[in-house]
Amino acid sequence: MYGIDLTGKNGLVMGVTNQRSLAWAIAQPLAEAGARLAFSYQGERLRPTLEKLTAGMEGAVLAECDVTSDDQLDALFATVGREMGRLDYVVHALAYAPPATFENPFVQVARDDWKTAMDVSAYSLVAVMQRAAPLMTEGGSAVTLSYLAAERVVPHYNMMGVAKAALEASMRYLAYDLGPQGIRVNAISAGPVRTVAARSIKGFGDLYGEAGGRSMMKRNIEHEDVAGLALALLSDRLGGGITGETIYVDAGYHAIGMFLPEGAEG
Ligand code: NAP
Repeated sequence: MYGIDLTGKNGLVMGVTNQRSLAWAIAQPLAEAGARLAFSYQGERLRPTLEKLTAGMEGAVLAECDVTSDDQLDALFATVGREMGRLDYVVHALAYAPPATFENPFVQVARDDWKTAMDVSAYSLVAVMQRAAPLMTEGGSAVTLSYLAAERVVPHYNMMGVAKAALEASMRYLAYDLGPQGIRVNAISAGPVRTVAARSIKGFGDLYGEAGGRSMMKRNIEHEDVAGLALALLSDRLGGGITGETIYVDAGYHAIGMFLPEGAEG
């Protein structure tokens, strides 16, 4: 009854760097369900990887887009419009904050680093949906990726946590503005997953172990956990009534209010 057939649907996936990228994990079930996909990548150095990954995907469109450039965003959506006509889905799975923001205490964050992190990690969703919405002529659905540091302090995340808070708030305002057009916008707040972006965060190894070991399910999440929820949120069949929402995929970690000391009886 709930088999998902996305034949005839078109999606744009932003943020694939390699096969460990969450964007790539999300692209798999979309393609398997029959959707035609476009992929945007930040710089031409990534194109050969994208070409290799998408070699078996019929009709895949590849286009460069650094989200800090309005010209590149305009060019991307011109390409998507020309190649696909209508757009149904957007996967926004990209973020960046300068290394100093992870290494130094938050109190030291520099103005330019704040702007860069906000621009790439939060404003980009707004810039993307401004251009995606006119192509979503039959409604649609967008998913972005967030993290618990948006609402709680997670050591070392610092500026990225602040940017994720802005991303989640932007997601809600976009969902409000675009809801009347039948466009849904949601965020997945994922627990730590080993990817290129994650490994650049100071102390990620400790954080990964802690998040898994202390979660309700006593495990870390897998790429497939995120991909499954993304498919549900993108598909109208499963997620049709959900918008403006942040959903946690973290094996229950976020919902624990207090941790007992090691060895204490639970
Ligand atoms: P990833 O594979 O490294 O993907 C991050 C992507 O962001 C890369 O493709 C990167 O491109 C792209 N990017 C950075 N700056 C950009 C720019 N100016 N223009 C266009 N693209 C840009 O890592 P990931 O973990 O899958 O990250 C995907 C999303 O999930 C991010 O929003 C991240 O914050 C979120 N997330 C990750 C985790 C986790 O533990 N992994 C947990 C929760 C949320 P380059 O490779 O060219 O820099």
